[in-house]
Amino acid sequence: MPNRARDLALTDATVYAAPGEEPLRDTAVLIRDGRIEDVRAGAGEQPFTDALVLDCSGCHITAGFWNAHVHFHERKWADAAAIPASELQRQLEELTRFGFTSVFDLSSALSNTQALRERIESGEVRGPRILTTGEGLISAGGTPPPEVFRALGLMETALSEVSNVPSARARTRELLDAGADAVKLFASSPAGGRLEPDVMRTAVEAAHAAGKLVFVHPNDAADVRAALDSGVDVIAHTTPRSGAWDDALLAQMESRTAALIPTLMVWKGLLRHDRISVREGLVADAVDQLARWLACDGCVLFGTDLGAVDYDPGEEYALMAAAGATFPAILASLTTAPAQRIDGDVRRGEIRAGNPANLTVLASDPAADVAALTSVRYTIRAGEIIYAEPTGRPTNQPE
Ligand SMILES: [Zn+2]
Repeated sequence: MPNRARDLALTDATVYAAPGEEPLRDTAVLIRDGRIEDVRAGAGEQPFTDALVLDCSGCHITAGFWNAHVHFHERKWADAAAIPASELQRQLEELTRFGFTSVFDLSSALSNTQALRERIESGEVRGPRILTTGEGLISAGGTPPPEVFRALGLMETALSEVSNVPSARARTRELLDAGADAVKLFASSPAGGRLEPDVMRTAVEAAHAAGKLVFVHPNDAADVRAALDSGVDVIAHTTPRSGAWDDALLAQMESRTAALIPTLMVWKGLLRHDRISVREGLVADAVDQLARWLACDGCVLFGTDLGAVDYDPGEEYALMAAAGATFPAILASLTTAPAQRIDGDVRRGEIRAGNPANLTVLASDPAADVAALTSVRYTIRAGEIIYAEPTGRPTNQPE
């Protein structure tokens, strides 16, 4: 990203430098050349003569959030190279207004998502860092029919259909050569068919050989088991349709050091046409699966399956809390856990001098109520303000 960022001083804030650490009160975060230069107690002093001072009194600052399960496959992102910049900016703000500085797209049209990313990275529009798997791998004939895409409001995207080991190897390498940042497997398809174990293993081996992660979409516990046997890294959903996860499955997830993206609110959305009792039962099963995984101390990456659900993640935070996730656990899923799993460096998810200045500034305290995680005043990526709450005006910015 071009460095359009001004040096910043975020003053008088409460800073959650890392999950589980005591908050630093009356603290300033100083940003120079897109990086955190200092996190210092006390406020009021002008740190650099030309820094833009943002009065953050009453605010709470965390590291920038990750949403590790999004899709840029809604019609609104189609022909991303040609969307007028002002409109594209407004669409991206649907993400950045909730504090997301990084997102992982788990299946969409690779070239289109790359075009979207390019417009952000070139500096034409402000947006989050985007990583993408491109078109996910699915069994032959597993791509849903066009009318399903249309009914769901999605671009009609040809998924990567693979039927055997050679096609899985070839397609995986093709995607990675074309610039995909990871590989997505649909273990089974609602349209019928599943990826055979040797096919999944082949894709995993090709991805790991290139140093890339593999995410899997499972539809039930059997899919989770098969995917773990194949060596996948991240389970991209809970699977409430198959009821409670038993101890054997949880032990298998643990022994494979898999990470889980719970996507709890998506179940409520998908069943919105069903009887309340049916919907509530399914959500309760998903919440229970997360609760069991948390009890195992399992790694959780925050993600909503955005594109299938509303952009407001508030309900996901509430459901995670209902599963027993504490504020530090939810903050870890938004920051340090994805930094560790995706960037290989847990410290990138913390507020430390030397780090890229990816920060989320909240208007109220998320430790008191996780709903505050949506009260975003500023979203800052590499020192650039990519979202500012309309009513909050920086103190020394022209009126
Ligand atoms: Zn998804």
